[in-house]
Amino acid sequence: MHLASATDAPALGSVLPMAAPPAPEPGSTAPLADRFGRVARDLRISLTDRCNLRCAYCLPAEGLPWQPREQHLTADEIVAVARVLIDLGITTIRLTGGEPLLRRDLPEILAALHALPGLEDIALTTNGVLLERQAAALAAAGGARLNVSLDTADREQFRQVTRRDDLHRVLAGLTAARRHPELGPIKLNAVALRGVTEEALGGLLAVAASVDAELRFIEPMPLEADRHWSPDDGLTGEQLRTLLSARGTLRRLPAPPSATAQRFELGAGGQVVGFISSVSEPFCGSCDRLRLTADGQLRSCLFSHDETDLRAALRGGASPEDLEALVRDAVWRKPQGHGIDQPGFEPPQRPMSAIGG
Ligand code: SAM
Repeated sequence: MHLASATDAPALGSVLPMAAPPAPEPGSTAPLADRFGRVARDLRISLTDRCNLRCAYCLPAEGLPWQPREQHLTADEIVAVARVLIDLGITTIRLTGGEPLLRRDLPEILAALHALPGLEDIALTTNGVLLERQAAALAAAGGARLNVSLDTADREQFRQVTRRDDLHRVLAGLTAARRHPELGPIKLNAVALRGVTEEALGGLLAVAASVDAELRFIEPMPLEADRHWSPDDGLTGEQLRTLLSARGTLRRLPAPPSATAQRFELGAGGQVVGFISSVSEPFCGSCDRLRLTADGQLRSCLFSHDETDLRAALRGGASPEDLEALVRDAVWRKPQGHGIDQPGFEPPQRPMSAIGG
């Protein structure tokens, strides 16, 4: 079952060559690969499209019309999809959103995922606002490596970027998470915003050091709901490294081929900083990710224009073999690249918050 987008515009690089072979059949021993030879290993599951912040590069101030909750996959449906994908070779799952800590059954989902054989790693991306209250329950459910999003450690800058005065809650959440080894190692993710990050660097490095977290900078991508992105909104990894080199020597760390971040040690203390420069230095050639939206749509690329409706399949009584066929076909059609730098690039219809970051 392949649902084309409403516009039916093909994603750049996603048009199948005329004589392209079909995806491997269900039951095949072939890896879960696309037609360019990339093998899917990493699944991002969005648990909700709702968020309790309104970051200017993501959501409008007034929020969005949220999806009705009955459209969201239930915990059992999420685990059923995860089981099929793990059997096909997925080894890492990241829970995200929207804000995943808004999902009340998050500890149950986490515990059920931990019980699946074959899953090697579970991570969770959160803005940290609700972390102080939930850290113990998440740890008791088996835990997850935490990525906490924090663009600045300055209260006024935080209020301007997120449109909420919640910096103290994020910092309290980080402190609470540190008490639970099941939630580590922690990473801090900062969107590299021109006009914000230059001033925020010192504070972010200090917070990261205080909780022993790697600090990573993410280039803003054209995934915001109100479509105002420009390539000049962000700082590239190279620009950030120039700024950081005033604080100490940067020494590059080795990275596996599928790594999205370029990592460096900074200065004599060796604080680790990473740069995820999806726009200026795309890593589509080694992308091993799939995404499942909160409403059960499988996407092979953040920027693709098509989705595969696993929710309809699940609720229509699809067998694991039926799901496998849908998944293999969706992966097979993964676009070659995001195409942001190509003429005619059209961002996806869903914003980041509704896909899962
Ligand atoms: N609410 C959670 C959080 O804040 O971590 C998870 C979802 S959020 C969409 C995941 C990550 O995507 C966050 O680090 C956020 O800053 C980032 N993000 C959102 N919109 C973005 C954009 N347009 N470009 C780059 N990163 C973005």
